[in-house]
Amino acid sequence: MIKNSQFKCVNCGAFAEALYRTYGPSVLKLTKCEICNGIVDKYIEYDPVIVMIDLVLMSKEAQRHVIFNTDFKAYWKLFIILMLLETYGVWRNDSLFNIVINSMCDIKNNSTINTTYIGLPIELSLPETVRTNCNGWVQVEKDDVDLFIWEKDFYIQFLSTFAGILVFMAMVHGSIVAIKAISSKQKVSLVRALKAYSLANCSLLLTLPMLVWGNADTSPTTRLLHYALVYLYSFTVFFNIFVVLYESPRMLTLLVLAASYLMKYTTMFLITPAIRTLHIYRHSDEMTASSQRREF
Ligand SMILES: [Zn+2]
Repeated sequence: MIKNSQFKCVNCGAFAEALYRTYGPSVLKLTKCEICNGIVDKYIEYDPVIVMIDLVLMSKEAQRHVIFNTDFKAYWKLFIILMLLETYGVWRNDSLFNIVINSMCDIKNNSTINTTYIGLPIELSLPETVRTNCNGWVQVEKDDVDLFIWEKDFYIQFLSTFAGILVFMAMVHGSIVAIKAISSKQKVSLVRALKAYSLANCSLLLTLPMLVWGNADTSPTTRLLHYALVYLYSFTVFFNIFVVLYESPRMLTLLVLAASYLMKYTTMFLITPAIRTLHIYRHSDEMTASSQRREF
């Protein structure tokens, strides 16, 4: 058996040399796995819709099929589209992340922005640094400012989300690969990790119903429930896919995933106010500079 071949048996995860063999121009036979005797990849004969349904149901076989046995060239398009969707949710102040920040930082509605806010039963005593960053998340009144500011805010959130995802991927991939280097299993390339990430991130599409049909009348509890359920599902999908990808122990994967998520959201929480203040300073510098010019 060739160890460096890239295909994997979808049933047991053992390496396979080929998915099928051809005998003549019209005869094609699916390869059997040498370890478990099952068909290496039954999904190559399946309709893509079936594969998608199995992916939604978190079937390990379907996940192995996409990550190891297909080209999946469009993963980077998926990566960008889903990053835009995530940014859109945060920018609209409509995601689980925003609900947590609004509740933690005590940010409520203003005249133009509908803020989902959950009253906490206990008074939080936040450290000074956290409170400073909280102020950076308070939405500005968007009545009197032009659309350009709105648009610019989207770019700021985009950068923040991108930084969060970078930290997340670096932490997951870095720590699992580092730990696995000791146990000397097969290597997982960064491209394959990104493919797995994009595949798992598709669960983000489940936020769409609320983003599209949610309105001012939707109660905060409904929003919280919807986003919390989506998040729970998404977390489970990520967990399953990373276990399939890295073949790492479940407990370790769970810990790494939880820590990486925490780091991702901390990064986003810190970076957005940082870019906003940076921008305000530069803006006010320009203002003073131009007013000084006018005086002379
Ligand atoms: Zn097998």
